[in-house]
Amino acid sequence: EAFNANVAAAKDLNAFIVATPEKALEAADAIDAKRAKGEELGKMGGVPIGMKDLFCTDGVQTTAASHILEGFVPQYESTVSANLWKAGAGMLGKLNLDQFAMGSSNETSYFGNVLSPWKKAGSNAALIPGGSSGGSSTAVAARLAPAATGTDTGGSIRQPAAVTGITGIKPTYGRCSRWGVVAFASSLDQAGPMARDVTDCAIMLEAMAGFDPKDSTSLDMPVPEWEAGLSADLKGKKVGIPREYRMDGMDGEIDASWERGKEWLCDAGAEIVDISLPHTKYALPAYYIIAPAEASSNLARYDGVRYGLRDLPEGAGLQDMYAATRAAGFGDEVKRRILIGTYVLSAGFYDAYYTQAQKIRTLVAQDFEKAWGQCDLILAPTTPTAAFPLAEMNSDPLAMYLNDVFAVPASLAGLPAMSVPAMLNGEGLPLGLQIIGKAFDEQGVLNAGLAIE
Ligand code: GLN
Repeated sequence: EAFNANVAAAKDLNAFIVATPEKALEAADAIDAKRAKGEELGKMGGVPIGMKDLFCTDGVQTTAASHILEGFVPQYESTVSANLWKAGAGMLGKLNLDQFAMGSSNETSYFGNVLSPWKKAGSNAALIPGGSSGGSSTAVAARLAPAATGTDTGGSIRQPAAVTGITGIKPTYGRCSRWGVVAFASSLDQAGPMARDVTDCAIMLEAMAGFDPKDSTSLDMPVPEWEAGLSADLKGKKVGIPREYRMDGMDGEIDASWERGKEWLCDAGAEIVDISLPHTKYALPAYYIIAPAEASSNLARYDGVRYGLRDLPEGAGLQDMYAATRAAGFGDEVKRRILIGTYVLSAGFYDAYYTQAQKIRTLVAQDFEKAWGQCDLILAPTTPTAAFPLAEMNSDPLAMYLNDVFAVPASLAGLPAMSVPAMLNGEGLPLGLQIIGKAFDEQGVLNAGLAIE
């Protein structure tokens, strides 16, 4: 009830597209009944959470923050949300996001931008909550929800977590089922938890993850007991510092947070080693070819026939209906990605762009493979800057894409990566640190996070 009240009171932050207070109460009642009978309460027993509006929820509108899906009410539940309900969680509502999860500032939503609860010291200017999981980051940072789901294709869990001072982990690709999650770039999309601290993330990830025969890329591996395995003792662990992540003109405070992170990990018993990931600078351009290419294919299904919006002008034929629906339904950033994606996949350009990008993807993954010969974990900044003011970057897509520079390499390689709060900058805004681990080593990532938080 307290969280439902917070959600209702914080409407100005615009974190929720739809609130579902009755669902949260229903789950709480079910837990009370179980408790009375002395039954197991489940990993998430009684915890009310926010659900990014990219997860299909049975009987509750699911929009991906796009006009084209407005009014779409799925008749099925995504595997991840179903797992969470099974573990005893309840739903506070569906969280706002960048349209189809494309963006880094939550300004591309059809339902309006989300505001961060943070302000620069001495300034009243509204700041971005990061994106695309900006409703999730604000909901947790503003204490509207103890935890929320996020999805991360190229940083959308880690970047919003970093700029709002919360914790979020993208697990190894395949850990969480993609079934019932609105697809952006299928070879990169991965769900994960966003919460107040590492322990809550470990608990929630255990509830979310698991093999799902309905997702052909789901990992057929048991879910480890991450919570039970938590330990901030890093004795014997080697932590790599990738040289290429130290970029020219890097913000001094980002560098300072990175230095502090190294000290904290040393204090926890880890050894710091210098490593090289030579193809880092090609990762961002490769991501911005591969992700739009996959998006252009995935978004072809929104045609005005099967889901949500249909724009059928008087006397129009089928092609006109497609065009009118898509013109009205998709936002500008989504259209930009579809155009880029269809361009790089078109005959004549495919080899020059898409094939090259796929080769770079392999090289980036091989960089990490080689690095694991020297270290067990990698420490890097999550973002190049702290939260920036609303509207500052949304007229410049390339500047916006640069926010993902530290996040996309781990995405291309499918590796687990987490952002944990590191410190406040001179203006009182949170900065995050990123820990990247070997495939399947969420435990190592969580433990290093524990040592930092
Ligand atoms: N900001 C990145 C993009 O716009 C990442 C998005 C994501 O991870 N969903 O593509």
